[in-house]
Amino acid sequence: MNRVKSDQLFAEALKYIPGGVNSPVRAFRAVGGNPFFVNRASGSKVWDVDGNELIDYVLTWGPAILGHAHPKIIAAVKAAAELGTSFGIPNPHEVTMAKLICELVPSVQKVRMTSSGTEACMSAIRLARGFTKRDKIIKFDGCYHGHVDSLLVRAGSGALTFGHPDSAGIPAAFTSHTIVAPYNDAEAVKAIFAANKNQIAGIIVEPVPGNAGLYLPKPGYLEFLREITAAHGALLIFDEVMTGFRLARGGAQERFGIRPDLSTFGKVIGGGLPVGAFGGRAEIMDCLAPLGPVYQAGTLSGNPVAMAAGLANLQELLDGDAYKKLEERGAQLAAGMRDAAKSAGLPIQFNQCGSMFCGYFTTQPVHNVADAMHSDRERFKQFFHGMLDAGVYLAPSQFESGFLSTAHTPADIEKTVGAAAKVLRTL
Ligand SMILES: *Cc1c(COP(=O)(O)O)cnc(C)c1O
Repeated sequence: MNRVKSDQLFAEALKYIPGGVNSPVRAFRAVGGNPFFVNRASGSKVWDVDGNELIDYVLTWGPAILGHAHPKIIAAVKAAAELGTSFGIPNPHEVTMAKLICELVPSVQKVRMTSSGTEACMSAIRLARGFTKRDKIIKFDGCYHGHVDSLLVRAGSGALTFGHPDSAGIPAAFTSHTIVAPYNDAEAVKAIFAANKNQIAGIIVEPVPGNAGLYLPKPGYLEFLREITAAHGALLIFDEVMTGFRLARGGAQERFGIRPDLSTFGKVIGGGLPVGAFGGRAEIMDCLAPLGPVYQAGTLSGNPVAMAAGLANLQELLDGDAYKKLEERGAQLAAGMRDAAKSAGLPIQFNQCGSMFCGYFTTQPVHNVADAMHSDRERFKQFFHGMLDAGVYLAPSQFESGFLSTAHTPADIEKTVGAAAKVLRTL
């Protein structure tokens, strides 16, 4: 595949942007080679600057659940932009958005918008601490909650890929109230609560972790987290930045029937514009300024153009059979990929939940990040490049979830599975 123009742009980018990218996981460090540059996307496809067409399973890391450049989102953005790109004064879209989120996610009674998932998680943690008047937070190994100082501990893909799980520049004191537990291990969480009586403000968890590949909660595990937090007066925070409005209308919490105290959102909620949100029980949310003592703010929070894009995205998801389609496409891809690996005689754990998926090259089931580390990453690298050459773009790291959109057709998936069968036979 000819990538001359991409390589030229990357050489130029390296001169002016650290590592040539504005977010490290885009840099192909985990798989080798140079990232390509894209200047157009539509539906399930992206086109790079050299004119190559790719079926995209990264989907701008989750937001493009209707596929790229959905006409209704484009129209909504244009219409909103004509009227002004930002007011810093309340606008009607904010109310529509908040009401819609509260209707769709039963655990959310009030919600506040931010400009990224990172901000949403940072604010939710501050709020949990302010509400409970406690400092300690439990997070899980391999879960990513944005690049928040206190949460950047054993934080999944980016960190795993680069081999230093903690970032430089974060004083040890900033993470001293963060306790890390292995995911899907109830005993570990029980032991932490026993050792930290009346000190745990809350647990923050990706209900279906998608930042170290993808693995699912074991039956009863999310229920256990709900019960133990309630029993200890701690808050349960679901980070649904990835799963929200994707795994069901009401996110993973609807799919698994759990009511967290607080939830964070991002990605799908912005329809491809920079948006995040956090919400939950009114009693907790009312601790935020200007009503309460927990400060939180944002110049562009609730931005009219971003709200219009997000609303168009959510509205389109609600009309029609989007979620049924996403489930069917996910099942088709999983079945096809498992068959392809089997016929190539390669072990694979192909984890899938609705429109999220990850294949690990290992014989053992993957339930947490320790299991994920058993995967053969050399094989993944070869698989990634083989697929890219065949016109299929998977996330450039073993430790990322893949995504499907309603724009992915059965034919796209057949083509993908066919390419995988060929590539896997060469590994
Ligand atoms: C992407 C992500 C974030 C961070 O969101 P940004 O918009 O990139 O700041 C937080 N939590 C989870 C689970 C995510 O997948």
